Amino acid sequence: MVRPRPGGGWRSVRPYRMSPIATRAGRREKGDVVRIDLARLVGLRHWLHAHPEISRHETATADHLRRFLQEHARPDRILGLAGAGFAAVYDGVAPGRTVMIRCELDALPIQEANDDLPHRSLSDGISHKCGHDGHMTILAGLAQTLAERPATGRVVLMFQPDEETGSGARECCSHESFARIRPDHVFALHNLPGFPEGQVICRAGAFSSQVKYAAIRLTGREAHSAQPETGASPSFALAELMLKARDIQAYHNRPDSYALCVPVFSQMGVQASGICPARGEVHVTLRAPDGPTVEAMWADLTAFARTTAGQYGLDAVFETREEFAATANGRDSFEMIRQAAAGLGLEFNHMERPFRWGEDFGEFTSRHEGAMFGLGAGLGQARPAQSGL
Ligand SMILES: [Zn+2]
Repeated sequence: MVRPRPGGGWRSVRPYRMSPIATRAGRREKGDVVRIDLARLVGLRHWLHAHPEISRHETATADHLRRFLQEHARPDRILGLAGAGFAAVYDGVAPGRTVMIRCELDALPIQEANDDLPHRSLSDGISHKCGHDGHMTILAGLAQTLAERPATGRVVLMFQPDEETGSGARECCSHESFARIRPDHVFALHNLPGFPEGQVICRAGAFSSQVKYAAIRLTGREAHSAQPETGASPSFALAELMLKARDIQAYHNRPDSYALCVPVFSQMGVQASGICPARGEVHVTLRAPDGPTVEAMWADLTAFARTTAGQYGLDAVFETREEFAATANGRDSFEMIRQAAAGLGLEFNHMERPFRWGEDFGEFTSRHEGAMFGLGAGLGQARPAQSGL
């Protein structure tokens, strides 16, 4: 929520009125200000951008952030979570509710193209194309304000691994240390290029999609292509499956919602004129605002695959490779975000439809009251490809 100023430097911001800040000695007076070391945060963000790490390998990122927090934001304790993940805990002066705010540690396996950027990625083929370096820095800035302690309750800042694979949130939720957090509210944000800078984008209910990325593998019997009738090739079954995906999407799509059943990869045989292949596979990505629609599409597709495989004498095997739970924003948490935006004088975009991309924050909102919002990164910024989602 803090915008960099040219040249950095100290900037004073007023604490949001629903989250009063208190010192250990007692509550701050209304109108007091919290100081954020913006220059240090800009330096942190540049370091994170220059040192990206892909999912399941974010150890240097996590180590750097732990050191930053311990030196500049003094958490009461740090809890280790799944993989490189951890949570910084700030106890309030008086008992109260626990609010957890999450950011993501991982980058994407994409080459950085910004050759003129002084802090461009130093890792070949890896870069922070989803903006998670910015999310981590925002939480580090929030940590600086929390170093003076919340007035009540607890604030937990979660630095989550493996978001891009859809597995990090799920594994953090099942980690033994997560039971010690017991959040009453969970929040997260995602930067949104293509939206006005500083605009808050949110809605109650579905915010981002349920996504399933799955493979269908067919196995038959190899033959010479001069005598294909002596083998069992997956070629026509694969073709029928890909066309069926279009029918399934049309059947489940709704005027007031959406359903997507998209073939994204296929492979069959070898590049040799004489070999009629025995194996082939097609991968699909299924998306909808809710889990049941995605599961209904997958059930239709797998039923068709089984029937078709039988007709062509093939075995069919199914594998779910990635899964993102739909992020469902709770009404109370949505209202808190809307009031926070109003309190800070930020433009609020009450979006009509959920985003089609997936985000594993849905693992948290399926277990706890909470909400996610978008933060506009500027109209001049290209809309994200949301690779990996
Ligand atoms: Zn992201």
